[in-house]
Amino acid sequence: MKNENVWKKYGEKELKELHEINERYKNCLNLGKTERECVKLTIEMAKEAGYRDVKEVLAEGKPLACGDKVYANCMGKAIALFRMGEEPISNGMNILGAHIDSPRLDIKQNPLYENEEFGYLDTHYYGGIKKYQWVAGPMALHGVVAKKDGTVIDIAIGEKDDDPVLVITDLLVHLAKQQLEKQARVVIEGEKLDVLVGNRPLANAEESEKEAVKANLLLILKETYGIEEADFASAELELVPAGKARDCGLDRSMILSYGQDDRVCAFTSLFAMLEVEHTKRTSCCLLVDKEEIGSVGATGMHSRFFENTVAELIALNEGESELKTRRAMANSRMLSSDVSAGYDPSFAEAFEKRSAAFLANGLSINKFTGSGGKGGSNDANAEYIADLRRIFDQENVTYQFAELGKVDVGGGGTIAYIMGNYGMEVIDSGVAVLNMHAPYEVSSKADVYEAVKGYKAFLLYA
Ligand code: MN
Ligand code: MN
Repeated sequence: MKNENVWKKYGEKELKELHEINERYKNCLNLGKTERECVKLTIEMAKEAGYRDVKEVLAEGKPLACGDKVYANCMGKAIALFRMGEEPISNGMNILGAHIDSPRLDIKQNPLYENEEFGYLDTHYYGGIKKYQWVAGPMALHGVVAKKDGTVIDIAIGEKDDDPVLVITDLLVHLAKQQLEKQARVVIEGEKLDVLVGNRPLANAEESEKEAVKANLLLILKETYGIEEADFASAELELVPAGKARDCGLDRSMILSYGQDDRVCAFTSLFAMLEVEHTKRTSCCLLVDKEEIGSVGATGMHSRFFENTVAELIALNEGESELKTRRAMANSRMLSSDVSAGYDPSFAEAFEKRSAAFLANGLSINKFTGSGGKGGSNDANAEYIADLRRIFDQENVTYQFAELGKVDVGGGGTIAYIMGNYGMEVIDSGVAVLNMHAPYEVSSKADVYEAVKGYKAFLLYA
């Protein structure tokens, strides 16, 4: 089976839609560079589309009916949107799932130090990265600092044109003879990923004053944000590549941006969710945190957050019932969307061409993921795949079947198997990217467009 480059199929109408979706998508990437920012943005967009916080709805205790729209916010880092269908929830939902955390460098809890009159913030990387890719480029600092008095300060430094940026330095090539002999894995070691944040001593510092650069940085933090050094202990600050999502290629056919794993699937799922209005089954869009470190913790897919929310909705829709909650989960169908490894001709040796996802070949569907003989994978059922093929063909969605690279060259996992545990039909789908987990990843605008089309078709007809 040979796939086709989908650009060839588009007429004027499709190209216009494609352009609009991708402009929206780039804007979302710029506004959502952390999981918290993504949740905030999702809530704004959902409210505009008529969604209400499930907490308010629960407080009112009014029953939920077909067409009602609610969202559940999990600690500001994960979110689930529901739009009630004609059928009761226990008949099952059509769920679009994706993750909104991306690889980055987290600032440690005791990070600020001075060395030879340079000020640094110490980091601990998050997710799987090639560490050498994260040096010598402009970085921005995003996140929150929670203070003892209960206030939470939002931080975003390095995105506006007149903002300063931060950088992790690398050794000059002239002196790198030994460094260049090292294995790529250790060229830059994890503990060396400290970001340079200052070099100017406090004005009027005494000659004898030690660490005057650090003192100056603390003064700036105090004056600008009202935070003290100890407040880093209760902060979540993420160092991410600075700058906006950009059109990529002389033909502008692609997008180059930080965080497309997995926000390319998250935002396309969200767009579909907010656009599709009337469905037989309840629609759901689930955007979770912590996928990059194993989906663990309160805001990851392993959390009971989603199941608990469904139980609350069942109580408002069909009457409280543990059994019906279980039925709702088991009868659900899910597109667990995550980025796929796009075939890269420059690294052809890592791919098996007939089973690779190609950019601009449409929505990628992975029957399984995992590594070492499908280890750790959800393996989607053939019958479910057949039904998805029917739906996508009927709705003129371009899609391709793929695997993550050659057998035994590596592998990866997603959130699919966790939802599979409930006995629901789940399949991995998503958008293929180049450079996955690099500071900037490449996607195809055509695939972004096909993803939105595919997700809409799924919500309507699965
Ligand atoms: Mn991912
Ligand atoms: Mn990833």
